[in-house]
Amino acid sequence: MSATKILLDEKDMPRQWYNLAADLPTPPLPPLGPDGKPITPDMLAPVFPMNLIEQEVSTERWIDIPEKILEMYALWRPSPLYRAKRLEAALGTPAHIYYKNEGVSPPGSHKPNTAVPQAYYNKEFGIERLTTETGAGQWGSALSFACSLVGLECKVYMVRISFDQKPFRRLMMETWGGKCVASPSNETQAGRAILAEMPDTPGSLGMAISEAVEAAVTDQSGKTRYALGSVLNHVMLHQTIIGLEAKKQLELAGEKKVDTIIGCAGGGSNFAGLSFPFIADKIHGAEIDIIPVEPSSCPTMTRAPFTYDFGDTAKMTPLLPMYTLGHDFVPPPIHAGGLRYHGMAPLVSQTIRDGLASPRAMHQLDCYEAAVLWAKTEGFISAPETSHAIAATIEEAKKAKEEGKEKVILFNWSGHGLMDLLGYDAYFNNKLTNYPLPEEDIRKSLASLEGLPKP
Ligand SMILES: *Cc1c(COP(=O)(O)O)cnc(C)c1O
Repeated sequence: MSATKILLDEKDMPRQWYNLAADLPTPPLPPLGPDGKPITPDMLAPVFPMNLIEQEVSTERWIDIPEKILEMYALWRPSPLYRAKRLEAALGTPAHIYYKNEGVSPPGSHKPNTAVPQAYYNKEFGIERLTTETGAGQWGSALSFACSLVGLECKVYMVRISFDQKPFRRLMMETWGGKCVASPSNETQAGRAILAEMPDTPGSLGMAISEAVEAAVTDQSGKTRYALGSVLNHVMLHQTIIGLEAKKQLELAGEKKVDTIIGCAGGGSNFAGLSFPFIADKIHGAEIDIIPVEPSSCPTMTRAPFTYDFGDTAKMTPLLPMYTLGHDFVPPPIHAGGLRYHGMAPLVSQTIRDGLASPRAMHQLDCYEAAVLWAKTEGFISAPETSHAIAATIEEAKKAKEEGKEKVILFNWSGHGLMDLLGYDAYFNNKLTNYPLPEEDIRKSLASLEGLPKP
């Protein structure tokens, strides 16, 4: 019997993260300040600790993972690589389908791979408290978990509608000692201003970011900073542990090459984490198809321009060079909450510009259909975000069958869906539809890009 799970020993965990910025054919463009000039590291100092800012701007290829972070990673890493034999059989495909199971972390997704180092570096820098925002609650729960490990306070601004509709993620945060409030809240100026105008607003990620950043930069003690769960270079860096482990595991499985790499992409971090170490091989001549997958309702990579835009609705962040639907974009209410961001990580955006990655958009109903087939074959119940990667993997496996090719496909199973079962309920009761974004909506939201600097 060939192996179903390919496991690494703790001692074989990678000791360094990989920084794609060192190898990209086109060096990434710098973030810009409000005046249109490149920002300097010290301008970010009120928001992030300097040790993380150094990683954000680093072009070193390898960055050492401190021993204490490795010890915390060991709670769930190395994560298993699985061969999806039952799915292969159900599809009758000659393809070898492998997936990295990032759902084994305590919060249940890949997000602690960066939450833990971010909490660690803040603690090292003398910070006592982190603030952040969360949509569906996956990032908020990952950061609360990480803060409990290193001994930091954690304050999470959770989008009002999720706060009301999804109590379980909030309870996870509270169990780890995090404090979670509905956003907009009465605790910040930004929140009060919004509430005065729109007392019944369901909230948005943009509003929650504004509150979390304000809470960090206005703390007079100087001991509070802000943490972001995706998009930024240092987040992509921390996630590369996924792909570095996967490379070792594929070798153990006896695979000499990989043909296709797939990951779902919201801000881009789990896709980057799996794919960047393989993109390094592609830059050096390997033939690999690399596919980030997004929802057709939030088609950042497949239908939006590459340009400078703010990371948040309130325009508090620097201008980032990225594919973007515009910072005013309000996504349709699809269930994959983690894929509803208006932009895409600058590093991921650059791999698309350089022709190293080829994005694809999938419809919501096809993703749920794929997730249900997955549950019935592989057993695990997937996060709605993850189901986009599964749907694309099934598409590629069927193509391999038509072509009669024994392709090796690897994808990132970014998290479990045990807190997201209401989405499955809606799917089973035919309450879901596809939401391909109308051209008119894209045109409207792109209007917010007018007057901003162009790359
Ligand atoms: C947050 C999340 C995503 C999307 O975020 P990325 O930064 O694009 O990885 C995908 N899958 C799961 C399970 C998530 O929690």
